[in-house]
Amino acid sequence: MALTPLHVEHPRRFEENRFVYPVLSRRSGGISMGVNLNPDKVCNFDCIYCQVDRRTQSETRFVEIDRLLAELEEALALAASGQLFTIGPFRATPPALRRLNDIAFSGDGEPTTYRNFDEIIAACAAVKRRLGLDAVKMVLITNASMFHRPHVQRGLAILDENQGEIWAKLEAGTEDYFRQIDRTPIPFRQILDNITAAARVRPLVIQSLFMRVNGEPPDAAELNAYCDRLNEIVAAGGQLQLVQVYTVARQPAESFVTPLADSEVDAIVDLVRRRTGLPAKAYYGASA
Ligand code: SF4
Repeated sequence: MALTPLHVEHPRRFEENRFVYPVLSRRSGGISMGVNLNPDKVCNFDCIYCQVDRRTQSETRFVEIDRLLAELEEALALAASGQLFTIGPFRATPPALRRLNDIAFSGDGEPTTYRNFDEIIAACAAVKRRLGLDAVKMVLITNASMFHRPHVQRGLAILDENQGEIWAKLEAGTEDYFRQIDRTPIPFRQILDNITAAARVRPLVIQSLFMRVNGEPPDAAELNAYCDRLNEIVAAGGQLQLVQVYTVARQPAESFVTPLADSEVDAIVDLVRRRTGLPAKAYYGASA
């Protein structure tokens, strides 16, 4: 899934790359190496706020594994050696951010829908090991819709062994609001069950994007229901290490979607902390 606040105003393409793109991320305090497993821009959600540009088709429709791994190895080596900061817009990177933080599986759709998900995660982890980048995290940015599939569970386990972090999206408290925002035939219950099961195995980060829909922010009942869902995950033995609260940062899919004010994002963070006791952080409309 593309949770694009990370990618605001950053180039989608790195030179001639098709699958791997370095991103300067102030939030992660360095370079996040994006890996796009959905070059066809197909997703099993159709979020009203999606910031993937689907008006144009990409020239690449399929993941070419050898090419992806070669791009990853080259880009990681450039970032780790510091040579990246002599190239194009990366020359302007502030000294404190001249470090490689993570490999992020996000891109133009839901990464876990890629049918060889476990194999590609294993192969990327092997590249990271070969380069001696043990401290570099592997971050999966996901809508959690496929966690019940065995090959995805194998991929998650490989992430666990390679400094993995799973950032799972949850931005509704009720089935109705979920359908309105995420526009998928997948039941809300499936998403909640998947997040709970995955969080019982390792701590998850929750990513929640809230917005105005036709000028209206989510109402108090919806936000309270959302906190109830977080509490249920924890009560069922799920571990949640952080709740990240966002709003829209770039042109969304639908024009009736607009960002929350910073103060409204802060109010949701306060509510999450108060109602759940979980750590929560705010990321505003222009955060990167
Ligand atoms: S999960 Fe939603 S936001 Fe992410 S790529 Fe799919 S439609 Fe876009």
